[in-house]
Amino acid sequence: MSATVIDGKKIAEALRGRIAAGVRDMIGRHECQPCLAVVLVGDDPASQIYVRNKGKATREAGMRSLEHRLPADASQADVLGVVRALNADNEVDGILVQMPLPAHIDAQAVIGEIDPAKDVDGLTVTNAGRLALGAKGLVSCTPQGCVILAKEVTPKLEGLHAVVLGRSILVGKPLSMLLLAENCTVTMAHSRTKDLADVCRSADILCAAVGKPRLVKGDWIKQGATVIDVGINRIEEGGKTRVVGDVDYEAAAQRAGAITPAPGGVGPMTIACLLKNTLVAAARRRGFAEPNV
Ligand code: NAP
Repeated sequence: MSATVIDGKKIAEALRGRIAAGVRDMIGRHECQPCLAVVLVGDDPASQIYVRNKGKATREAGMRSLEHRLPADASQADVLGVVRALNADNEVDGILVQMPLPAHIDAQAVIGEIDPAKDVDGLTVTNAGRLALGAKGLVSCTPQGCVILAKEVTPKLEGLHAVVLGRSILVGKPLSMLLLAENCTVTMAHSRTKDLADVCRSADILCAAVGKPRLVKGDWIKQGATVIDVGINRIEEGGKTRVVGDVDYEAAAQRAGAITPAPGGVGPMTIACLLKNTLVAAARRRGFAEPNV
């Protein structure tokens, strides 16, 4: 294996340390403790784990953590009611509604109800629009984490060809916008892309966010490229359940210049960027200087 391993855990830990320092500073200067509220509807086991981890990380950063749990049969009005109450609560700086929501709830309507100033997931039309316009807003956490990881090994991304595999609202689209803002030449690839392997081979920065285990093969990687693997896929292998990314890691690492492991790459950055967004949202809402984390 020749690639440099981009250690997302370590980079996220350092970022969380800077965020915790920013929180202490905000408390010290302004007696204001940033607060993140997470809304969980239903009892999906994976979502419960995510929410628990987010709460723990929030408290570890020195922030206040609120959790609102609603039963799986909660109505649309119930969920909207909780979001509206959190919008109105001046002590709450960030609101995150854990996805997926039960099928009978209109997720877009719920996201649309979140005050954009508290939209720490960056999913509202306002924040997505600001990103597209190159204006200041709150940027979705996973794409933000991907760019931080890519810049860890290539601080100046300008002029590089970035290929983003996947065009979801959560990852692919905002990630493409962020890379464009870094002056990359960006290609967005998806399930209808022709000659996907060739498109990938032209990438200096290859970001895979498709949700297909090991879709990206070793020989799809340009020699020396930076590979950011967003995928989290649970597979059965050798009689065990294991998590793998969207990239065939072992093979890709033979050709890449740098690569994120999955797990242990992008995942830890998502939570760190959520905390960062909460701190930034707290500062902006309250008119404090923007924290430099
Ligand atoms: P998604 O909403 O399902 O979108 C998947 C995208 O991949 C779609 O744009 C789809 O294209 C494209 N795609 C699917 N199969 C493809 C193929 N064979 N060739 C090329 N493109 C293909 O998924 P997502 O929410 O973006 O998540 C993607 C992966 O990232 C998942 O594994 C998810 O678990 C993981 N994830 C990780 C984190 C983290 O914190 N690490 C956060 C979010 C997501 P079409 O648009 O044409 O259908």
